[in-house]
Amino acid sequence: MGCDSLIELELVDYQGRLIRANKYCNSDLFWACRGAGGGNFGVIVSMTFQLQEPTDCPVTLVRFYYVGTTREKQAQVMNVWQNWLPGLDKRMTIVASFYNAEGEGLGIFATGFFYGSSARAREILQPFAEVEGFRVELETSSFLEAVKKVEETYPPSEKFKSTGRFVQRRYSPSELKNIADLIQVPAGGSVYAAVSFYAMGGEIMCVGKRETAFFYRDARYIMGIQSVWTEDSAAEENRKWVRGRFEYIKSITEGSYVNFPISKLRNYECEYFGENAKRLDKVNKKYDPYNVFKFPQGLR
Ligand SMILES: Cc1cc2nc3c(=O)[nH]c(=O)nc-3n(C[C@H](O)[C@H](O)[C@H](O)COP(=O)(O)OP(=O)(O)OC[C@H]3O[C@@H](n4cnc5c(N)ncnc54)[C@H](O)[C@@H]3O)c2cc1C
Repeated sequence: MGCDSLIELELVDYQGRLIRANKYCNSDLFWACRGAGGGNFGVIVSMTFQLQEPTDCPVTLVRFYYVGTTREKQAQVMNVWQNWLPGLDKRMTIVASFYNAEGEGLGIFATGFFYGSSARAREILQPFAEVEGFRVELETSSFLEAVKKVEETYPPSEKFKSTGRFVQRRYSPSELKNIADLIQVPAGGSVYAAVSFYAMGGEIMCVGKRETAFFYRDARYIMGIQSVWTEDSAAEENRKWVRGRFEYIKSITEGSYVNFPISKLRNYECEYFGENAKRLDKVNKKYDPYNVFKFPQGLR
């Protein structure tokens, strides 16, 4: 995660003072900003990151999908995912989307990186290849080229609502069916409705839950849900669609991801920051005692 490579930041506080925070100086603020910095303590004006060792090792861009996707296949591939992810080689990270798109219908699309050869990537993906209809594209390039290719898949702008929660456990076949059911009937005016699984694990788990403000380090993956529309008249229905389905996802997960926030979340400090919420409140009272930096889901 980005916050694990952060080594220093500078912040303008509520009095207009420039404060530096790192492991040694204002270390409580530094701790808090690694997972909960957005909008809470002041205006961050500089961040210093530790770059990874430069390496000539090429990256394999992984993309796979299934022809002839059905609801049953979506639930089946979700099951492969949840059995495959624990213990996955930490050089691989994938996001898998189970979707229902206008003009295309049901689909599954996964994309990610493998910091190794395409031959080894193919072997690692073998459990997915065992489900009928599997198609894979493996492209070797420099890291930067691979990032650009992923970036190209995002449109310049989009009207959407999305949110996401942390998954800590395996789901039963009936729960997987319920998850697949969430996207079988999209909202009116939706052009793309999806449930997405963002892999966690790997290096994220190598740091303790209390070592930085990012609490949900032991989650297996993030389950996101989203709906995309084009006409403004469809906005309200699509927002309601996401919010309604979110209730089911909330009932089977623990904790919400602060980068995929959702309004009207009861006890949002605990939902976003788990057992780090109390310590964050203390840091907030120290660095922003008059709550100058506030927003609907800010620390109080
Ligand atoms: C297409 C898309 C893909 C995404 N993919 C991912 C992903 O893969 N992984 C992931 O983790 N997230 C992802 N996100 C979410 C994104 O990382 C978060 O929304 C993030 O908060 C964006 O930061 P921002 O500064 O651009 O946004 P903003 O909404 O401007 O800021 C977020 C918060 O930080 C505060 N803030 C902004 N600037 C400062 C500052 N200088 N000092 C202090 N506080 C500040 C704001 O007040 C707000 O509370 C994605 C979002 C989109 C739209």
